[in-house]
Amino acid sequence: MLRLPRFRYLAPRSLDEAVRLLAEHGPQAMLVAGGTDVYPKMKRRQFGPSVLVGLARVPGLGRVEGDGASGIAIGALSMLSSIATDPMLRKHYPAIPEAAEVISTPPLRNMGTLGGNLCVDTRCTYYDQTYPWRASIDFCLKKDGDTCWVAPGSPRCLAVSSSDLAPVMIALGARYELLGPEGARAIEAEDFYRDDGSAYIAKKPGELLARVRVGPAGGWRSTYAKLRRRGAFDFPVMGAAVAVRVGPNDEIENARIVVGGIASAPVFMEEASRVLAGKRPSETLIREAAALTFRPAKALDNTDLAPLYRKKMVPIFVERCLRKLLL
Ligand SMILES: Cc1cc2nc3c(=O)[nH]c(=O)nc-3n(C[C@H](O)[C@H](O)[C@H](O)COP(=O)(O)OP(=O)(O)OC[C@H]3O[C@@H](n4cnc5c(N)ncnc54)[C@H](O)[C@@H]3O)c2cc1C
Ligand code: SF4
Repeated sequence: MLRLPRFRYLAPRSLDEAVRLLAEHGPQAMLVAGGTDVYPKMKRRQFGPSVLVGLARVPGLGRVEGDGASGIAIGALSMLSSIATDPMLRKHYPAIPEAAEVISTPPLRNMGTLGGNLCVDTRCTYYDQTYPWRASIDFCLKKDGDTCWVAPGSPRCLAVSSSDLAPVMIALGARYELLGPEGARAIEAEDFYRDDGSAYIAKKPGELLARVRVGPAGGWRSTYAKLRRRGAFDFPVMGAAVAVRVGPNDEIENARIVVGGIASAPVFMEEASRVLAGKRPSETLIREAAALTFRPAKALDNTDLAPLYRKKMVPIFVERCLRKLLL
């Protein structure tokens, strides 16, 4: 049986107190929200904080505020299960509940939070293992070692971004509100993720994610489709998030296609998104746009299912999403 190491758990009652505690304890402290990723990783010694700053008792961050007309603010502590069943989100921002409802299992969705999902660690076959397993290969670049076993010549870790909600937030043009020792700042979801399996988010030391804002939903339609081995539960090994804004004369005014689970950050499919804009939906246009997602999809052999299969599934999933939204 894997056991948790010893640690201190601090329970701040406000965001400011959480930020102060993080600053006070420095690199030995780590944030925990639902703990569905943090605790298993502590048991496997992938994370080794001596202090956990738990956000569970910070009030006011567990709600979805606003509506489709004004735009929304979702608190970082909102539970995945409440996001998955929120009728307003389902109506105006359907990709958000569609992604939330396929994360993990019901008990984990009752613990896991939006903030934890958007900041969740990257994954790799050589890293998501017990301590003795990782010791047997002399560890790897991401933790305790100096070689990347996926690409031994690589100077950086190539672990995969495996959050279901991150590509959705990029597709919807969301902004993240962060709070840290230097005060509050906002960052576009697209700029928050980095193509680096170790330093995979642009969160400065001591910062926390407080809220996610998405603009008014007028004209926007969105959806999410996830590839995984088992339909009951599994991390995404590819996930397509698509948002399109359709004008009154049926013309596609804007399109944003983002694919997760194939690189260290979600991949914004620029060419495919661009080709849709300003055109009326048709079978031919959808097939053309979907085909353009094949080349930029460069899945690696460090997670479940063969990389070429995952790459081939990208245009298929994108086409399914576009058909659902446009035809
Ligand atoms: C069996 C299993 C299956 C899973 N399946 C999926 C899946 O299909 N899809 C998927 O996306 N995930 C999956 N996960 C991962 C995880 O459960 C989810 O991503 C969940 O949403 C994490 O939320 P949490 O609140 O529990 O995060 P925690 O475990 O508390 O934290 C996760 C990370 O986020 C940081 N963090 C938490 N809150 C904040 C905040 N407000 N600001 C800044 N940093 C913060 C923590 O420091 C930590 O690094 C799975 C996990 C397990 C154990
Ligand atoms: S991609 Fe390389 S460095 Fe990163 S976790 Fe996997 S083996 Fe380790």
